[in-house]
Amino acid sequence: MGRMLDALADRTLELGPTRHVEREGNWRAARDGEGLFWLVLDRPDKSVNVIDRAVLEELDALLDRIEAEKPAGVVLRSAKPSGFAAGADINQFVALPHDEILAMLRDGHRVFDRLAALPRCVAVIHGHCLGGGLELALACRHRIAIQGAGLGFPEVMLGFHPGLGGTFRATGVADPIEAMTLMLTGKTLQARQAKRIGLVDAVTEERHVHDAVLAAVHGELRTTSGSFQSRALQFRPARTLAAARMRKSVAEKAPREHYPAPYRLIDLWEAHGGNAKAMQAGEIDSFVDLIATDTSRNLVRVFFLREAMKGLRKGRSGVRHVHVIGAGAMGGEIAAWAAKQGFSVTLEDIALAPIGKAIRSAGNMLAATLKDPLLVRDALDRLVPDPGGLGVRHADIVIEAAPERIELKRQIYAKVEPKLKPGALLATNTSAIPLPDLAEGLADPSRLVGLHFFNPVSRMQLIEVVGHDRIDPETERRATAFATELGKLPAPVASAPGFLVNRALTPYLAEAMILLEEGIPKERIDDRAERFGMPMGPVELADQVGLDIALEVSTSLRERLGSVFPEVPDRLRRMVADKRLGRKTGSGLYDWDSDGKPRKMRVDALPDESKDDPDLLDRLILPMLNAVVACLREGVVASEDIADGAMIFGTGFAPFRGGPIAYARTRGIDEIVRRLEALQAVHGDRFRPDPGWQSLG
Ligand code: NAD
Repeated sequence: MGRMLDALADRTLELGPTRHVEREGNWRAARDGEGLFWLVLDRPDKSVNVIDRAVLEELDALLDRIEAEKPAGVVLRSAKPSGFAAGADINQFVALPHDEILAMLRDGHRVFDRLAALPRCVAVIHGHCLGGGLELALACRHRIAIQGAGLGFPEVMLGFHPGLGGTFRATGVADPIEAMTLMLTGKTLQARQAKRIGLVDAVTEERHVHDAVLAAVHGELRTTSGSFQSRALQFRPARTLAAARMRKSVAEKAPREHYPAPYRLIDLWEAHGGNAKAMQAGEIDSFVDLIATDTSRNLVRVFFLREAMKGLRKGRSGVRHVHVIGAGAMGGEIAAWAAKQGFSVTLEDIALAPIGKAIRSAGNMLAATLKDPLLVRDALDRLVPDPGGLGVRHADIVIEAAPERIELKRQIYAKVEPKLKPGALLATNTSAIPLPDLAEGLADPSRLVGLHFFNPVSRMQLIEVVGHDRIDPETERRATAFATELGKLPAPVASAPGFLVNRALTPYLAEAMILLEEGIPKERIDDRAERFGMPMGPVELADQVGLDIALEVSTSLRERLGSVFPEVPDRLRRMVADKRLGRKTGSGLYDWDSDGKPRKMRVDALPDESKDDPDLLDRLILPMLNAVVACLREGVVASEDIADGAMIFGTGFAPFRGGPIAYARTRGIDEIVRRLEALQAVHGDRFRPDPGWQSLG
């Protein structure tokens, strides 16, 4: 039991002469001297509350008591310091047959309807109040949020929409457009914003909760009455207009065929907004449909993959001071990100200009992500320019992000290693140099680890944690913990060419070059990949990454992997020689505007006679799958789950497809192997199915 729990229990007691707090499974219940019935959600042995069948059944029983005892009011809150409730327990839905989900939902709705019928019921919300937790709070007559609370509906990110009354209660109490936006985006609102849109009735400090509760119970809390807009939206034509706008803005991010949930939610509200009963019935039907879709199953899988990757952390890294060597594209961002996450950082470079540039970019990134100027100032204070490399002696980890040249990296290590503190880690951000080669010449190779960040560091969630034959397991453990302390997701990989992500992604980029050579328009290539669900087509991605880097990585992979890897296309060499490197030079495979957007022709404006290939999509995607299977077979990555997670969080591989291996399994392993063989017969060995497919069958 945390201190907060005791404080809440005390508060429950302090309110009146009743000294008796009862535990009812996941709830604590008490009557206070002012006739209030306190219902405190407190799941035993858990740090956060989630709503599941037991919580609802116990609430049902407690409501029997409340209805019989008729207290002056009911106060519902959480005993967990982390917040009110994190949502409904997703595990309960996974793999349940349709009828059971339906029965469970109907039961849940019945209990929430009983709660909603209580005339003087107040939810007091602190910390996070998400999904099913927010639906519980919405079933109370009043909601009081404590400063710092965060309220939201993340369901849409799991491929469904709220299913315990959230759709009609949120649009019923709050501004309907704002409530819909909240559900459609999955974002979290701070307490004041929640008050502004009418989702909560009041915002207060913890010390004023008692007064606020009494005010609510005695009907003195002014609830937000429906605005003119809410009244207008009672009428179907007004909703139809608003719904069309919502569909348009959702379509910019998520096509209906891949992400049906937001569209079903809009359809539901358009048809029944303002009519709670009809919307409730529709909500249940559509929720049950959505939860059975492949999209939802895969997005739930992605949710669990993220949790599994976070769970790879064992203990703490012990890192406080980070020293970064090389303030270029990667090192500058790594340093800024580490400072943002609370580490003390020193940033070294052989030249002064990159350090200055890195600090300026850090200011922009921090302002955009932290928002609060005080937090930005504190983070910048933690980021210290260090041209002389004085930080090395104090660092708990040194991250080398110098250019990709083995002799240069070795020279740096020769200088740095003697200065390292005992127990300090030496990490490299190399994309392709084998770790054993870098370990050679080190007095203590056991402290060397690869921390392979992705570009842009502030947006990409993955870090590949690269091991080698002489690493100390403690180095690996601490590096993995450090990756999670940076707020990133670690994927342990072995030191093989390209590790996992580049090994799988480079054939996708290389095949796009070959398709270009065959005369297929770049817009068509990108469009196919994007319609499959990749965040960016391969031609645009190659330009974004930089054609010099793409050339470097594909050359080294081809040298190491031979004919299963595509030959490096001449076009790439020519363009790099001409200094047309992509986005950073303003011209590459596309021409780039100064605002960082490629100039693209619309696909539907391409001439009819422009070239196409019916195999185009498979030619892009299947080599990626083949490479992931090779990595599994070779032990570069330990499990299908980590492989899928790494590809989703490191490349944005279509999350609604659950990752490359989940996608292969959905399509059928035999079918994929047959397709690869057919492509191999036409295009050669780069499509040869990896022997690893046999063990996946
Ligand atoms: P970069 O050329 O942008 O930056 C390298 C920096 O290192 C430069 O500022 C240079 O002045 C500095 N430097 C050179 N010699 C140095 C020395 N002896 N001591 C200190 N600083 C020195 O390179 P980058 O793109 O940031 O790549 C750095 C590393 O990260 C490489 O190993 C690369 O393979 C890897 N990487 C790059 C990317 C990417 O997309 N750029 C992604 C993942 C990993």
